[in-house]
Amino acid sequence: MAPAKPAPEPTALSALYWAAAARGELSAPWCEPCADWVFPPRPRCPRCGGSEMGWRPPATTGEVVTFSVVHQAAYEAYRDDQPYVVAIVALDGGPQLMTNLVDVPDPGAVAVGQRVELTFEARGGGGQVPQFRPVG
Ligand SMILES: [Zn+2]
Repeated sequence: MAPAKPAPEPTALSALYWAAAARGELSAPWCEPCADWVFPPRPRCPRCGGSEMGWRPPATTGEVVTFSVVHQAAYEAYRDDQPYVVAIVALDGGPQLMTNLVDVPDPGAVAVGQRVELTFEARGGGGQVPQFRPVG
């Protein structure tokens, strides 16, 4: 049996993201002056340099922008998942995030543009990691 997958280790910047995930919600920083996402969380907006960040829930559906099928896991904890899919997902209305696609019966059938929806994977200490699965 593979060792447990790593649990989230929140930092000052990511604490709200991980707290929302532990509740089964997705939350991301939003720059009020730019009216756009700042994700992953940063201390300042890369567009305007401002730090007026609010947090709001992005869409929980989106599409695959790009992906890779991992046949040889770099970490023992992921060995039982091989082959698994790492993807960049563009949420409807933004932002984009790196994630795993789960509940994928045939990784060879994953495609750019594929519709996906949010789900969560439980980890140690009550943490949950946002993941995505194909829709339909
Ligand atoms: Zn901004």
